[in-house]
Amino acid sequence: MKAWVTYALCALFALTGQVFSASQSSTGGMNAPEQREKPYVVLVSLDGFRADYLDRFRLPNLARVMKRGARAKWMNPVFPSLTFPNHYSLVTGLHPDKHGIVSNSFYDPARRQKYAMHDGPAVTDGTWYRGEPIWVTAETQGMVAACYFWPGSEAAIGGVRPTFVMPYDDDAPNDARVRRVLEWLRLPPDRRPHLITLYFSELDTTSHRNSLNSPNIERAARSLDATLGVLIDGIDALSFGSQVNLVITADHGMVETSRSRTITIESLVDLSGIEHTFDGPVSSFHVAGGDIARARKLRDDLNARLRNGRAYLRDELPDRYHYSADPRAGDVVVIMEEAWALKRATAKLVQFGNRGAHGWDPAAPAMRAVFLAMGPTLKPGLVIDPVDNVDVYPFMTELLGLRAAPGIDGQPGRIGSMVRK
Ligand code: AMP
Ligand code: ZN
Ligand code: ZN
Repeated sequence: MKAWVTYALCALFALTGQVFSASQSSTGGMNAPEQREKPYVVLVSLDGFRADYLDRFRLPNLARVMKRGARAKWMNPVFPSLTFPNHYSLVTGLHPDKHGIVSNSFYDPARRQKYAMHDGPAVTDGTWYRGEPIWVTAETQGMVAACYFWPGSEAAIGGVRPTFVMPYDDDAPNDARVRRVLEWLRLPPDRRPHLITLYFSELDTTSHRNSLNSPNIERAARSLDATLGVLIDGIDALSFGSQVNLVITADHGMVETSRSRTITIESLVDLSGIEHTFDGPVSSFHVAGGDIARARKLRDDLNARLRNGRAYLRDELPDRYHYSADPRAGDVVVIMEEAWALKRATAKLVQFGNRGAHGWDPAAPAMRAVFLAMGPTLKPGLVIDPVDNVDVYPFMTELLGLRAAPGIDGQPGRIGSMVRK
């Protein structure tokens, strides 16, 4: 495992052997006295876990969670149904055009810089992120927070970091992730994080490499289910295990694509005067100097030739996408029909062969994500109507007795019906 970093002020945990740097965690690694009796939330993301897998596959540990806790029929992702925008919405209760992480990669015309999820300096630079992620909400209210991976967790956002954070490492074994989370939960009450995020990419990675009909998809889901079993058993073994809420969700679902449904942008339009393009199920085009006449011409040229998608000026996008407020989304945005994608002539076709992909309209059933939770106040065996990604943040602040950040898009009431009052 790679070295890991914590930002607690000046303690030394023999348990973890971590290096300390100057504190940017508001708690300095100590729970305020009024936070120590509060419940715990472990937020788990199973990247790419489509809602219907829960019923289709044999998953005994997720079945345990459903029996002991509550489940939504599904969770609607935010637009676009990609990893970074959705994970950051889950922890802020904001749509991407408010929180600023509008895609996995995007261009900011004001900064004249690109952000990309695999670009270390960008993901760790707090100035890219707006909104208040739940670990910042927790830390600023005196509650210790820890992140075993989550988009945004490696940056100081509003100058605040979680007390514990792991630098992203795709190769970190899943069982090591669970072991570390259980170690955090075994810390003494004054230092034990009450809010923990935990992320697994295994199912998403398997889905991008296989047909969705492949037995490898269920195999990956079952492997994650076994990992969750270790986590649940570990929580049950804690003296305060009954106070731990386990919230299990995903960022988006998955659909099968094919090369024949991938269209090369250059076969449709001339890209002169277009400074930056981001292709895929949702494509963004930034016009040099933001020239509106050039943007209109690009939109019209695209729509004249495009059969399986539609181009919009950013301002014209339907409201339900919540995508018009941030210039990072592009001057022209193309939304493709499900399973169709645009690509640049120079882009590799790897992602859009006969295999899984995502990014499409959150209203498409295949993009629906799983959502279930168990904990001291959750109603056992309950199934509720679909919930929205942006409702998860206020739901978690309620479970933790924290004040949610003002001005969020989500409403705790909708998922709140899972909770015994
Ligand atoms: P996507 O295809 O949109 O589902 O993106 C999934 C990929 O996002 C994973 O396979 C990881 O490589 C990457 N990823 C997920 N979380 C992080 C993170 N916190 N930091 C960097 N990359 C991440
Ligand atoms: Zn994802
Ligand atoms: Zn993916």
